[in-house]
Amino acid sequence: MTQAPDWACLLGGMPHPAWVVALPSRRVVVANAAAATLFGRDAAALVGEPAEALAPAPEDQLWWAAGGALGPLHSDTVVATAGGQLRHVSRSIGLLPADDGTATHALVVMCDRSAEHRAETEREALLAELQATLEATADGILVTDATGRMSACNRRFAEIWGLPTELLQRDDDAAVQGWLLRSVVDHAAYASRLQALRETPQAVATDRLALHSGQIVERVTRPLVCGGRSQGRVWSFRDLTERIAAEARIEAMVRQDALTQLPNRAALADSVAEATAASRRDGSTYAFLLVDMDRFRQINDSLGHDVGDIVLKTIAQRLQGCLRGEDLLSRLGGDQFVVLVKPADAAAAEAAARRILNVVAQPCSVDGATFTLTCSIGMSLAPSQGTRIDELVRNADSALGQVKSAGRAHFGLHQARAEGDRRQNMKLDHAMRQALVSGRFRLQYQPQIDLRDGRIVGAEALLRWRDPEMGDVSPARFIPVAEDSGFIVAMGDWVLSQAVRQAALWHQRGHSVPIAINVSALQFKQPQFVDRVASVLAVSGVPPPLLELELTESILVHNADEALHRLHALKRLGVRMSIDDFGTGYSSLAYLKRFPIGKLKIDRSFVSGLPGDESDAGIVRAILQVARALGMKVIGEGVETEPQREFLQAEGCDEFQGWLYAPALDPLSFEQRLAQVKAAPPQAAGPRIRLVS
Ligand code: C2E
Ligand code: MG
Ligand code: MG
Repeated sequence: MTQAPDWACLLGGMPHPAWVVALPSRRVVVANAAAATLFGRDAAALVGEPAEALAPAPEDQLWWAAGGALGPLHSDTVVATAGGQLRHVSRSIGLLPADDGTATHALVVMCDRSAEHRAETEREALLAELQATLEATADGILVTDATGRMSACNRRFAEIWGLPTELLQRDDDAAVQGWLLRSVVDHAAYASRLQALRETPQAVATDRLALHSGQIVERVTRPLVCGGRSQGRVWSFRDLTERIAAEARIEAMVRQDALTQLPNRAALADSVAEATAASRRDGSTYAFLLVDMDRFRQINDSLGHDVGDIVLKTIAQRLQGCLRGEDLLSRLGGDQFVVLVKPADAAAAEAAARRILNVVAQPCSVDGATFTLTCSIGMSLAPSQGTRIDELVRNADSALGQVKSAGRAHFGLHQARAEGDRRQNMKLDHAMRQALVSGRFRLQYQPQIDLRDGRIVGAEALLRWRDPEMGDVSPARFIPVAEDSGFIVAMGDWVLSQAVRQAALWHQRGHSVPIAINVSALQFKQPQFVDRVASVLAVSGVPPPLLELELTESILVHNADEALHRLHALKRLGVRMSIDDFGTGYSSLAYLKRFPIGKLKIDRSFVSGLPGDESDAGIVRAILQVARALGMKVIGEGVETEPQREFLQAEGCDEFQGWLYAPALDPLSFEQRLAQVKAAPPQAAGPRIRLVS
C-alpha cells in the first residue's frame, strides 16, 4: 500500500492559497495558511467544506460535478470571505493522480488578484474620465504611443477629419493615417513634417493644414512625457475655417466702402501697389482716373442725403457696368470714385473716360425726381506720373482741377510739366514780392474813348513789371500766380493807392479823367475792402466818381448776397463799377439786374472777330441790348481795327479802348495825349482816329 502524501507539508510551502479536495466526496481535506488568510477562517475550519462552497462559480460546479474529467480549469473568478467580502482571484483546479494513476484528489490553487483588480478599476475610471474630458474639448484630440500607434481619440477628431465611424472602429492605424494623408492638400509637406516629428520626439509644433474639403485645420502636437521619458504624443486639431472666414469678412469690411460696397481707399492703395509691381515686371502702364461728380452738393442740399446716397450707389453701378474685366473701381470718399484702367496708355484712359462721362450723364430718377448729373475726370498715368496712390491722386487731382475750372463735364490728363510750373510759379511769386518792396511795379494807362465824339473819357490802369532778370513780365503771366498765392491782395492795394494818387494829380492839373482799376475776386472779398477804398479816396481828395472798379463776373456769381451788399456800399461811396471781360463768365441777366453796375466791358475775344464773325457780332449785339435794357454803358475792349470800331459805333456801343487808339501809356504820355485832344476838340460824330504806332 502506498503511503498517503503529506499534503499539509506540501501546501505549507506554497505562497498562494491552496487546498486539496478528496474525490469523489469533493470535500476539502487540507488547506494552507494562505487559504485561511484569503477566506478569513482557520485552516482547520476549511477542512470538510464542500469544494463548490469555497469557489461557487458555475464553471467550478460543473468541474466538480464532472469529477475532474474536463481536464484542468484555469480562470478568474470571485470568492467570498467569511466577512462577506468578495475577492478577485485567478484559480486553477487540477487532478492529483496517485501512484497507480487513479485520481483520488484534486488540487485547488488561487492567486489573490484583488489589488490588481482594484487598480484596474481605478484605471478604467480614470480612462473614462479622460475620455469624457477629451470629448468635452472643442478640439479634436488624438493620442499616439511611443511607436506612433493611436491610443485614444475623441469624436471631434473624427468630425474634423471626416473620418467614417466604420474606419475608426476597424482599429486600423494605417487606414486612419492614410485617410488623414489623403485629406490634406499638400501631401508631401504633411508627410515630411510627420517624419521630422518622429525624429524629434520632444518637439512641440504648430502647423496649419489645408484640407481638400476646404477646411483650414490648426494642428498642435506636444510630447506625452511620463517619468521624464517620452511616451508618445498628444495631437490637437482645431478647425479654423470659420474663424478665418470671419476674419476675412472683417478684413473685407475694413477695406470696403460701406455705402457702395466698393473697395475703399485702403484697398485701392494695395491695388495700386500690385499694379505698380506688375508694371515693373512686364513694363505695362496703367491709368488712374479720378472721377468727381459735378455739383453733387446740389443733390444733397435740394433732395436730401438719402437721395444723395441712392444716386451714389446708382453711379457706382453704372461705372462698374462700363468697365472692362481687369479695370478696378473704388470709392475714394464723398462723390469721388477712382477707376484703375489696366493696362492702359493715354488713349485707353481717354476711351475709358469717355465711357464714364457717357454713363454718368444718363438721366437719374429717384423718388419721382428726374435729373441729370455730370462728372469731371482727372487722369494720371502710371508709372510715369506716379507709382503710389498719393502721387497718382495728387496728379489726377490737379488735372481734375483744370477740368473743373474749364467748365466741368469733361476729362483731362495730368501734364507732367505742372510740377515744373509749380516750381516756376513759386519763383515768380517770390520775385513779385521783391518787386513790390523795391518799387519795380508801374502803372500804365490805356485811354478809353467815347465812340460818339472821340474824347478820352477814361483810362484803364494796367500793371507793368520789369524784372532785372526776367525782363518785362506780362500781367497775364503774373496776375494768375498772385491770385493763386494771395499776393494779389497786397498788389491790388498798391494799384488802388497808386491809381488814385495819379487821378488826384491829374485832377489837380485840370484833367478829370476817371481811372479804372482791375479788382481781383480775392481782393474784393477782403472784409476791409470797402473801407480801404473809402480811406484811399478820402486821403487823396479825389472825387469818388473818378475811380472805377473793374470787377469780374465771378465776383457776382459766388456768394452773390455778400457781393450785393458790398457793391451797394461802394455805390454809396460814389465810385463807378464795371464788369470786365463781359461774356466770358457765367453771369445771367437776372443777376445783372440786381447789381449796381454802371458799365459792361465787352471782352476782347468777341471784338476780335468783328465785324465778319457772325457769332461774335451776335453776341456783341446781345450784350448791347441787355445793357441798354438795364441802363448800363458798354465799352468794347481790344479794338485794333477801324472796322471793329465802326461796327461798335454803328451798333450803339458807348466807348472803346484798344491799340487802334493807344496801348497802355506811361502817365506822361497819357497826359500829353490828353493835352493834344484838348487842343484839337473832338468832332461831334464819326471821329477819325489815327492808329498810334
Ligand atoms: P484786362 O483787364 O481785360 O485788360 C486789358 C488787357 O488787354 C491788357 O492786357 C491790355 O494791354 C490788353 N489790350 C488793350 N488793348 C488791346 C488791343 O487792342 N489788342 C490786344 N490784343 N490787347 C489789348 P495786360 O495789360 O496784359 O493785362 C492782362 C490782364 O491782366 C488784364 O486784362 C487784367 O485782367 C489783368 N491785370 C492787369 N493789370 C492788373 C491789375 O492792376 N490788377 C489786377 N487785378 N489785374 C490786372
Ligand atoms: Mg480790365
Ligand atoms: Mg478785359
